[in-house]
Amino acid sequence: MSKKIKLFVLFLVIVVIIAAVGVYALKQAQEATNYTIVGFDYQRAYNDCDYLTSIGPRLAGTDNEYQGAMYIKNQFQEAGLSNVHLESFSALLYEVNSASVSLVPYGPLGNLPSRFEDPIQYAHTIDFVAQGYSGSYIWSDFNDDLEIVDVGDGKDDLLFEEAQGKAAIVSQDENAASNTELFFRAEDCGVAALILHNTRFTEKLGYIPISKSTGLPDDESSYPDIPFFMVSNDVGNELKESINSNYKLRVDFDVTVEERDLWVVVGDVLGSEKPNEYVMLGAHHDTVYNGPGAIDNTVGTVTVIELARQLAKYEPKRTIRLVTWGGEEEGLFGSIMYVEKHRDDILKNCKMYLNFDMNNVDLERGNSLPLSVSDNKSIDHMENIAGQLLNKYKELKKYNIQIEYNDLKSGGSDQLIFARNDIKAAACWGSGSWEYHTYLDNIDHVNAESISVGGRIFGSYALYLAEK
Ligand SMILES: [Zn+2]
Repeated sequence: MSKKIKLFVLFLVIVVIIAAVGVYALKQAQEATNYTIVGFDYQRAYNDCDYLTSIGPRLAGTDNEYQGAMYIKNQFQEAGLSNVHLESFSALLYEVNSASVSLVPYGPLGNLPSRFEDPIQYAHTIDFVAQGYSGSYIWSDFNDDLEIVDVGDGKDDLLFEEAQGKAAIVSQDENAASNTELFFRAEDCGVAALILHNTRFTEKLGYIPISKSTGLPDDESSYPDIPFFMVSNDVGNELKESINSNYKLRVDFDVTVEERDLWVVVGDVLGSEKPNEYVMLGAHHDTVYNGPGAIDNTVGTVTVIELARQLAKYEPKRTIRLVTWGGEEEGLFGSIMYVEKHRDDILKNCKMYLNFDMNNVDLERGNSLPLSVSDNKSIDHMENIAGQLLNKYKELKKYNIQIEYNDLKSGGSDQLIFARNDIKAAACWGSGSWEYHTYLDNIDHVNAESISVGGRIFGSYALYLAEK
C-alpha cells in the first residue's frame, strides 16, 4: 500500500470510530433522559366518561354538544388552567329531528295499502340511521309511499335512472362509491329516497347500520333534499325481497340542515419562561347523532380533561395548551377553522400537536395500542417514555404499544390539519371498537385503564417538550 492509501484508510477508521462513539453517546444520553411520567387517575376519567355519555349523543351544533363543551370548560377551570374559554365557529351542520321508516303491505291491485296487514315498522338507530346531511321527506298520506328499486352497487347510471321518483337501495360493499358520490348521483337522477344496504360493517355485530358523514363537493352550495339512510343487513334483505311484491316504502324524515355554531374548548398550563410557545394536546368532543359515542370520542375527550388536571401541577417553561374540538364527525370542522383563525400564531409558536381519537383498547378483542408520529425524534422519545412507564407499572405490559412513523397528512381526525401545515403531530388510536358510529358505542366498552397508557405517554412527552 502506498503511504497515501494507508493514510486514507487510517482516516476512514478514525471517522468510523468517531461516528460510532457519537451514536453511542447519543443513545446513552437519550436513555439517560429522565422523563417526568405524568400521573393519570383513570377512575376519575371514567367518571367524566360516565357523565358525558349520560348527556346522550353530542352531535356538533346541538344543545348536547354545547352541554358537553361547558362540562369540559368547567373541568379545565377546576383543574386550574389559565385562559380557559370556548371559541365558536359557524358551519353548515345538521340535526335529525325525527325519522321513521316502514314497509307497507298493499292490496292485490297495488294501489291502496292493505286493510288487513300492518306495516313493518323499523327502529330508528337500530334498524336504520340517517347519513350525514340527509334531506327531509315529510310523509302526508299513502300517495307518498315509494316503490323500491335495487340499484346494485350504485355505479350503474341506468339503474339509478330507473329509480327516478322511487327509493333506490344500494349495496354497501367494499367497492361501493362514497356517500358523497351516491348522494349527488341520486339527486341527478331524481331519486326520491336513498338507502344504503349494510353488507359490510360489522359481521360480529350483525351488520347494524352506521352513520357516516357526507361531503359537500366544491361545485355545490347545498345538499340534496333527499332522505338518505343506511339499513342493517337484515332490513336491507327484507326490503329487496319486497320488490315485485305488493309492498311500498314509507319514509318520514325531518332533518334540519343549516349554519350553526360548533364549539372548541381551550385551556392553558401557562409557560413560566416562554409562555407564547406551546405544545397542544387535543381530542374531538363531538359524536355521531345515533349513539353516545363512548369510544368515539368521549374517551379522547376525558383523556384530555384528566391530562389538564395532571399537567396543571407543573410549571413548564413553555405553555401546554389543551383543546377539544367540535365538528370532527362532519369533516374536521372545528380543528380546520381553529387552525385557520390562529394560523400565523400556530405556524410560529406551536411545537407539536398530539391527538387522541378512540384511544381505548378492548382487551377482549386484542391488545394493540397504535401511536402514529410524524417525526422520528419524537418516536425515540416516546419509546423511551413508554419503556419507563412499563418498567414502573408492570400491569400495563399487557398493552402492545406500537409507535410508528406516519406523516399524518392523510387519514382521519384532527391531527391532519396540523400535519398538513407542517406542524409535528402525533395520534393515539386504540383498537377493538366494533361499535364505531353505531348506537352500541356506549360506556360498556370503555376500558379506562387503557386510555391512561397513551394519555401518559403523550402527556409526559408534551411536558418534556414544554420543558426542554
Ligand atoms: Zn372520532
